Amino acid sequence: MRINIAIDGPSAAGKSTIAKRLAKKYNYIHLDTGAMYRCIALACKMADVAWKDEEEVKKLLPQSKISFDALGNVYLNGENVTRRIREKDMSMGASDVSTLLSVREDLVARQKDFAKNKGIIMDGRDIGTVVLKDAEIKIFLTASPASRAMRRYKENMEKGIPCDFDALVKDIEERDYQDTHREHSPLTQAEDAVLVDTSEMSIEEVVDTISNIIETKFPEGVSEND
Ligand code: C5P
Repeated sequence: MRINIAIDGPSAAGKSTIAKRLAKKYNYIHLDTGAMYRCIALACKMADVAWKDEEEVKKLLPQSKISFDALGNVYLNGENVTRRIREKDMSMGASDVSTLLSVREDLVARQKDFAKNKGIIMDGRDIGTVVLKDAEIKIFLTASPASRAMRRYKENMEKGIPCDFDALVKDIEERDYQDTHREHSPLTQAEDAVLVDTSEMSIEEVVDTISNIIETKFPEGVSEND
């Protein structure tokens, strides 16, 4: 049988990396919902709209078509924005637009539609609590702020993106605060989610831990359509 898998957790806990690996292993589709909030933040920037100006941001939603390809590229109205949405100010921009109820409602509806045929691994902040409340597997992935900042730092260095470690720690702490304290769908662990603390774990160990959780619950396997 095919199932849906929800992975939530704070910034830079490794959600997308792990979700991509699991998607490959089980032949599932990965949806990075953070990329969708980042696209809306970018659409605002392009239109010169402030990220928290709900009336104006709302108008941009119907004209912001977000799509993905099999290689993990992200498109906003057909334009490849994969790199642009990772630029420094886009993280805080995404966190800002994600506080707006109209943005959340619009993107959550798109995400639910995406998952209706099962076989989806979705990562974000509200997947287990709001978007896929009935996901068969829910994981809450976390790690200490210092280890998350170090991972992001190494990732940026490998991609040749210049960055400052202390600024990354500050950004992670600010976003953690805003994401856990906002009024609508704050980041929180779903009651039925399994907590996985990855501070001391390698990527392979995290993939193995989650695979064990999946295969213990579904010993008959999750890769076949039936
Ligand atoms: O996961 P990523 O860091 O790319 O997400 C960027 C921002 O988008 C987060 O800090 C969070 O505020 C917001 N977000 C959200 N709900 C999601 C995914 C991301 O509010 N499901």
